[in-house]
Amino acid sequence: MKSYYADYALLSTGWCPQVRFQVINGQFANIQANSKAQVQDIHLSGPILPGMVNLHSHAFQRAMAGLAEVSLNPADSFWSWRDLMYGLVNKLTPEQVQTIASFLYIDMLKAGYTQVAEFHYLHHQSNGQAYDNPATMALAVRDAALDTGIGQTLLPVLYSHSDFGGQPANDGQKRFLHDVDSYLQLQQQLHDSNTSSRINQGLCFHSLRAVTKAQIQHTLAASNANWPIHIHIAEQQKEVNNCISWSGQRPVAWLANEIGLNDRWCLVHATHIDDRELQQIIQSQAVVGICPSTEANLGDGIFPAAALAQGGGRFGIGSDSHVCLSPAEEIRLLEYSQRLQQQQRNRLYDENHASVGNYMYQKCVADGAAACGLSAGLAEGNRADFISLDISYPTLACAAPEKWLDLWCFGSNHNPVRDVYVAGNHVINQGQHHLQDSTYLAMQACLKQLR
Ligand SMILES: [Zn+2]
Repeated sequence: MKSYYADYALLSTGWCPQVRFQVINGQFANIQANSKAQVQDIHLSGPILPGMVNLHSHAFQRAMAGLAEVSLNPADSFWSWRDLMYGLVNKLTPEQVQTIASFLYIDMLKAGYTQVAEFHYLHHQSNGQAYDNPATMALAVRDAALDTGIGQTLLPVLYSHSDFGGQPANDGQKRFLHDVDSYLQLQQQLHDSNTSSRINQGLCFHSLRAVTKAQIQHTLAASNANWPIHIHIAEQQKEVNNCISWSGQRPVAWLANEIGLNDRWCLVHATHIDDRELQQIIQSQAVVGICPSTEANLGDGIFPAAALAQGGGRFGIGSDSHVCLSPAEEIRLLEYSQRLQQQQRNRLYDENHASVGNYMYQKCVADGAAACGLSAGLAEGNRADFISLDISYPTLACAAPEKWLDLWCFGSNHNPVRDVYVAGNHVINQGQHHLQDSTYLAMQACLKQLR
């Protein structure tokens, strides 16, 4: 057990001064505001708040971030980007994937993320054969989380087909493929071999293109009924058109009507939805996994986040392809997309939070955690994931606590994250991670091999 004291902490009731708390078995206990520091307390530098949840990651894609920004043809789109991504996929070894994921997770921690949902579909050898241990690739990304100290919701992906109606997979997809039986075996193996409270699991379907209705039903019936369920959906207009051609329904409507949505689902992107689908999402309390920087980078479109929020829906943020590793920048881009579309200011807020920064940050922590099958925030019984801010930066130093999140998200590109704790472990100390130097060197060597 350790005791801590912070001059300010963001509790569920808002910013509170003089907060004492304890961490017992990696969880918050005995949180008290307006308390005097005790001699045994560790006095934390700067105000503390919950770490951000990153609800959508493909770790290996970090190796190509920034390298697909050259026009190859006048019709460049998500689909031409996907061809480049398949080229990278062909080359990767488990050792390289672990190095890339470790590099990525260290940078996530430094940016203030304490939890990542890893949407993991790169399963097999480059010839499409399973490794001798079929979990080799999943263990590579899990070991990266264990080594770096981030919390991880590992989401092994079921991927069987190339398009709606169970079309055969294509050559670029051969490292991704499972049938339901081998998929359930992989999930069981990962579950049985996990000994860390920082790692949990969830179900994951790559997309409605990649699985059939019977596969979804079989998988759900055979799996833990409490695990979160993630899926890419309605990211591209072409995908919506193809879904209508195949089924007569739009993707989110098909999922809601044919399978059923509930609060276990995380609908990643859900960019292209109509008003009825928006209401289906809100009523189900499924979490929408919005990935603002990746959706902008890929030219996906703009999710109607303001309408979702005003209707009482849930959403969080993900860095997806990792062209951006900053929760503040994701929040800013998401809010700005709504402003640009509606030609109005301050779109994402609620009756309790007029401040966009305060609303969005806390919303993305709480709903993002739900999508990870967790409960987050500085509250007793939650895992002790928190970050401290360096408020010596002049604009922060002169501001009231209620302004700190607005200033971080909308006031500059300065990263104020100073210290990061996950399950009570001090993983970022004054902006530095103890494996940073060796991992950055390994990442350089990895990128040289890949090019
Ligand atoms: Zn994705």
